[in-house]
Amino acid sequence: MKAMIAILCMAPLGAPLQAAGNWQLAIHGGAGVVDPGSLTPAMDAAYRASLNRALEAGAAVLSKGGASLDAVEAAVRTLEDDPLFNAGKGSVFTAEGRNELDASIMDGSNRKAGAVAGVTRTRNPVSLARAVMEKSTHVMLTGLGADAFSVQQGLEQVEPEYFRTEERWQQYLQWRDKRTSLLDRTHAYGTVGAVALDQAGHLAAATSTGGLTGKRWGRVGDSPIIGAGTYAEDGVCAVSATGTGEFFIRASAARQVRDRIAWHRESVKSAADNTIKDIGGLGGDGGLIAMDARGRVAFAMNSPGMYRGSVGATQPAHTAIYASEK
Ligand code: ASP
Repeated sequence: MKAMIAILCMAPLGAPLQAAGNWQLAIHGGAGVVDPGSLTPAMDAAYRASLNRALEAGAAVLSKGGASLDAVEAAVRTLEDDPLFNAGKGSVFTAEGRNELDASIMDGSNRKAGAVAGVTRTRNPVSLARAVMEKSTHVMLTGLGADAFSVQQGLEQVEPEYFRTEERWQQYLQWRDKRTSLLDRTHAYGTVGAVALDQAGHLAAATSTGGLTGKRWGRVGDSPIIGAGTYAEDGVCAVSATGTGEFFIRASAARQVRDRIAWHRESVKSAADNTIKDIGGLGGDGGLIAMDARGRVAFAMNSPGMYRGSVGATQPAHTAIYASEK
């Protein structure tokens, strides 16, 4: 299948990095098979309203001079709490009919990072990833150990049923009946992520997901892998990815965007575009959001749609779903 590449680049803010009051936030709610017209008007509106709530949560932090790290965590928490997205509540089910959640966060100011994989009881996995970064000497914790660390850190715990939604359960049952593929790509969308530049010029990125329907054997995708699903480095860029995770890992997707900008002097738009082309060449599909050191945003995807949005000091909130949308 010929991959369709769509790149939408926000207009440069035109202000130098240190310009007083300059800040920018971009988010995604997953890429996948969202063809124009496939959503009812009500669902279309619900997704946009939800994306706007996440933009508001992050903008509330950044407009007051808060840290990009706090902004990406706030935006991702909002999307994790929303059952529409495949992260936190509303996550997809594993082959065994369980929810196992992955998340990561990275602070561009010092390149500290935290990640968790296969967690089952933390309401907001992105905050657990942040606790790993700030309260442990490690970068990544998995499974039972990560669940135990979460309790120890006093993060909000929920019963595993909290994550279940009827829609995701029906998707799981359909997958189980068909068993046509190990991982069902049609349900691949819904992962969430955010990238931000704050008024001090610091970049941050975060990503959170339930993974892919039907995952098994402790499968971990790209979302919690620093350099694959998430990356942030001041002066270069912040990146959050979504799609068929195995390909994003093999392409070092988020780090590839960073290297293209830092080493090859590509624009953020070109770096995002070329990274998605590389992933498409491997057979992967999905998208990513990237922001450069000045807050210029690139949305790149080779799937028909990606839930996304952005807002900035001089740009009102804007959301989009289909690849063809500006
Ligand atoms: N990238 C995620 C994973 O492979 C899934 C997604 O983005 O939809 O776990």
